[in-house]
Amino acid sequence: MTKIPNKAKYVVIGAGVHGLSTAWHLGEKLKKNGGVKENDIVVIDKSSVAAGASGIACGVVRNNYFQPAMRELMAHSVELWESDPKLWSYESVGYLQISPESMRKDVETIYEQQQNIGYESEFIVGEKECTKYMKKIFSDWQAKDITNILHEKRGGYSKNKVAIKGVAKKAEAAGAKIITGVEVTGFKRGSNSNAITGVETSKGLIECDQVIVGVGPWVRSIWNMLELSNKIEIKDEKGKTHKDFPMWKYWFLQEGVMKVGMDYFKTDSGEMPPLVHVDSDAPLYSDKDGSLITDKMWGIYYKPDICESLGVQGGAAPYKVHKPLDEVKVDPYGTASKEYQTDEKFADMWSSALAHCQKRFEGKSNLYNRVPSGGLGCFTPDSFPIFDRFCENVYIIADSNHGYKMLGVGQLVADEILGQESKLLKPFRFNRYVKGELHPSSHSPFPWS
Ligand SMILES: Cc1cc2nc3c(=O)[nH]c(=O)nc-3n(C[C@H](O)[C@H](O)[C@H](O)COP(=O)(O)OP(=O)(O)OC[C@H]3O[C@@H](n4cnc5c(N)ncnc54)[C@H](O)[C@@H]3O)c2cc1C
Repeated sequence: MTKIPNKAKYVVIGAGVHGLSTAWHLGEKLKKNGGVKENDIVVIDKSSVAAGASGIACGVVRNNYFQPAMRELMAHSVELWESDPKLWSYESVGYLQISPESMRKDVETIYEQQQNIGYESEFIVGEKECTKYMKKIFSDWQAKDITNILHEKRGGYSKNKVAIKGVAKKAEAAGAKIITGVEVTGFKRGSNSNAITGVETSKGLIECDQVIVGVGPWVRSIWNMLELSNKIEIKDEKGKTHKDFPMWKYWFLQEGVMKVGMDYFKTDSGEMPPLVHVDSDAPLYSDKDGSLITDKMWGIYYKPDICESLGVQGGAAPYKVHKPLDEVKVDPYGTASKEYQTDEKFADMWSSALAHCQKRFEGKSNLYNRVPSGGLGCFTPDSFPIFDRFCENVYIIADSNHGYKMLGVGQLVADEILGQESKLLKPFRFNRYVKGELHPSSHSPFPWS
């Protein structure tokens, strides 16, 4: 097992998409400026590469965001996905946002702004036109009350663990050292400043110049170790100030697989389909017994299950974890966690929604794969990322669970660490809460759109 060094220039905590992408780009940039020495960049992870959210993500890459700053950031990341599709096992097949009338204005704005930033997409309006458009891709399309479709021609999906291992390869090739099985337990501070001078770990202390935190759903525990406040001040959209606003909240991401076989979900022309995301206010009936599941807004997304090759994989809107924060146990993470798992209700809803959209899924809900799935996400007060420096020399990447697709964020973070401020990251500073510069919210049933 690799021993931890006593000293490193940059300690990166977390071997998920953000920690590894930052290490990769830091290495590349240092190489250009004179080279990377041993222990300049050390990535540590308490488990292994891709052990966290990045390793169980559905793998969806899209631009579709109502918030202009998110869209610009995603356009940058999509370029990184397109830079080495083979290594990331990335299917650049596009993305479909299929919506009811209540979302049309929001989605139209997204389309218009995508045209302004040169992100290729098409916008289809009108119920008949939408059905016709979808039937050209899937002749069994049958979703009701859809009046607009945003078809992003870029984006798609990739194999989660394969892609993250690919980023680890890039990081190592750029000179970073990745050490797994080492848990961060605390921080050492300087005697006359707030800066961090060392990272305390389960294997000893690593003195360092700078720390980069990319720990996904574990961010709250690192936040606490840094003695940052769990209550903050926020000015809301109406200009009202809220003192003592909770800093973090957890949502459980519901995802699952239907075992219909790998070639079952293809386009009529036999190609890998775009990612399909449907939001709807049409009543949703159970595929099992015809009972009403909901007559309120619902949403699902799905794509071929390229990781396990079992059939079709996807999810629905997450649910809020209603527990005192100290009682939310992030470990064991993901599918291993017994406490948070998708249940019968989710299985019925998601399978029925698939059948609502495409005839081929009718009568198939019994093929839902009944194994634990999904995972926890740790969200910020406005549910959008924070990319910022704390305690003088600690850069926190708190992506608020948006982040598998954000492969490029590490490149921008590396720029900032080396002193070059990123225009794309600026709208995600922590002080936006106190200043009331929050990102706008949309009419989507998902907290991340
Ligand atoms: C079920 C699910 C599906 C998702 N699907 C998508 C999707 O399709 N598209 C998308 O864009 N996003 C998706 N997301 C969100 C996305 O997965 C996360 O936002 C992103 O992966 C977070 O990356 P990260 O690098 O910050 O953290 P992670 O990938 O979680 O990595 C953090 C790492 O830090 C390590 N760590 C934690 N604490 C410590 C410590 N104290 N010491 C040392 N190491 C530590 C962990 O072991 C872990 O390996 C999904 C999330 C979930 C839960």
